[in-house]
Amino acid sequence: MTRPVLPGILDAVGHTHLVELSGLLPRFPSRVFAKLEAFNPGGSVKDRSALSMLLGKIRNGELVPGRSTVVESSSGNLAIGIAQICRYFGLDFICVVDPKTTQQNLAILRAYQVTVDMVTELDPDTGAYLPTRVKRVRELVDSTPGAYWPNQYANPLNPQAHVQTMREIDQALDGRVDYLFCSTGTGGTMTGCARYIRERGLSTTLVGVDAMGSVLFGGPSGPRLLPGHGAAVRPELFDPTLADEVVLVSDLDCVVGCRTLTQREAILAGGSSGAVTAALGKLADRIPAGSNCVLIFPDRGDRYLDTIYSDDWVRAQFGEVSHLWKEPEHTGAVGAC
Ligand code: PMP
Repeated sequence: MTRPVLPGILDAVGHTHLVELSGLLPRFPSRVFAKLEAFNPGGSVKDRSALSMLLGKIRNGELVPGRSTVVESSSGNLAIGIAQICRYFGLDFICVVDPKTTQQNLAILRAYQVTVDMVTELDPDTGAYLPTRVKRVRELVDSTPGAYWPNQYANPLNPQAHVQTMREIDQALDGRVDYLFCSTGTGGTMTGCARYIRERGLSTTLVGVDAMGSVLFGGPSGPRLLPGHGAAVRPELFDPTLADEVVLVSDLDCVVGCRTLTQREAILAGGSSGAVTAALGKLADRIPAGSNCVLIFPDRGDRYLDTIYSDDWVRAQFGEVSHLWKEPEHTGAVGAC
């Protein structure tokens, strides 16, 4: 099939591939599919949120090059999504980041000519950078003429973008999505998917996948190594009751999930893709045979080469664990614990 010429790079957001993972769990009596959000042009699911929060305001003339400045707190994928849109339309973008932001992400932001504003202090109450970053965003919004803060943590246009994510999955599988595994950060992806599922009256079981040490589903805050999923503060838009099931995964689970995906499916995916893969492994025994299970893979592995895909890093964090994804015969198990 010849694909049409797109008018611009932003038209490439969405309509990502859904790929069957037939070698992931060889004896699993159900089908497994992955929604590969890495195929968005900025490389992640957050391109959808960024476009949803900005495009309307650009089209209706509220955001104007030379007069408007977008200000947002993000150290990763949303920042890159916004950077791409702002560059495309010639808008200024000040991105508030923290010392955990990877050098690679900072380099990508600089390549898009983003003004990077780094906070260095942890919030004394939560021990996290997020509240400090949000405080800094408020200061910048107050002091910058024509500033607009999309505020991914509270903006309904963030989840709204993912109604379409779920629509694409539903249509690709002709309305038969029995399980959807969705990692959570702002909750935008989960909320949008849940909205579509409810509006359509689908019988899909929505599995929220979060990090151990994240507070999103009510657990205590604790240390986490991997960016992407999980949060130290529950965002305004996050509704934990939308998930029919919740699975918490450790950093090691994510590493094992990612390495297993590369080993068995030749997919180099990011940490939260490893998280949903591990969550499927944990729930697999309870999933009725013949189900269609869909995992949303939010981003690709290139941005995790110094961590998840570095043998030295993995050994330093967890010791010698490579046997967990290098079994000579696939056992069907994914996950460290
Ligand atoms: N995985 C990755 C890699 C992400 O960057 C994010 C967003 N921080 C998520 C998962 C969680 O997505 P959402 O914000 O829609 O909950």
